[in-house]
Amino acid sequence: MRTTVNILGVRVDKITAEDAVTRAEELLRTDGVSAIYTPNPEIVMAAYNNPEFLEILNKADLCTADGIGVVYASRMLKDPVPERVAGFDLTCSLLSRIAKTGEGVFLFGAKPGVAERAKENLEKTYPGLVVSGFRNGYFTPEDDDSIVEQINQSGAKLLLVCLGAPKQEQWIDAHRDRLHVNLCMGVGGSLDVFAGEAKRAPKIFIQCNLEWLYRLLKQPKRIGRYAALPKFILTVKKEG
Ligand code: UDP
Repeated sequence: MRTTVNILGVRVDKITAEDAVTRAEELLRTDGVSAIYTPNPEIVMAAYNNPEFLEILNKADLCTADGIGVVYASRMLKDPVPERVAGFDLTCSLLSRIAKTGEGVFLFGAKPGVAERAKENLEKTYPGLVVSGFRNGYFTPEDDDSIVEQINQSGAKLLLVCLGAPKQEQWIDAHRDRLHVNLCMGVGGSLDVFAGEAKRAPKIFIQCNLEWLYRLLKQPKRIGRYAALPKFILTVKKEG
């Protein structure tokens, strides 16, 4: 049974990072295709403004608070999530576990060459990890069938979809029924970090809940995306 908090219509799991990994492992070993999404304030706002996207997010089997803004929102609603569960961290923990069990992962997304470099690095970081296949994230709808085919042929149990939101969640939702993997995760720019293209914030920023500031300083052109944050907090205040 899931315990969730409703944040502007999005059901966000009230779960610790440790329990989220255990849940992800359970989903990986459950028949059928499960989905994990990890919304930040920008994604929650997008869903608030787009009922179809909201419906997709709410079809998740696990939906974690990625972003301190979502954690604050849950506190403002007096129904707090225990902590932030970043998609990147959840992915790392899950990969480290499946490196021991041999279940394969397929890496889908990012610019050409990135997923391949991510594969090389991940195999070094997690000895034993089986990367069953990879594919860049630039394609047209005509490619969908062959992408699904490639993923199914690979025999992977876990599919990381890194196309950015809402594209990744929409892609998972549209093809969930014909995928043979057990678990899909929409985890944004994770492949860029695994490939060494982008850096995760230093620990001190993460511990101080300032990862967003680090990313903003590194990529000032993301400023437009951060404009969603005050709007998000104000909307939660108004609606909550
Ligand atoms: N991307 C992709 N296909 C697209 C658009 C984006 O594969 O059509 C990739 C992009 O190369 C990047 C990731 O999706 O690797 C999105 O990263 P971003 O930092 O925007 O995601 P976030 O983690 O902030 O959601």
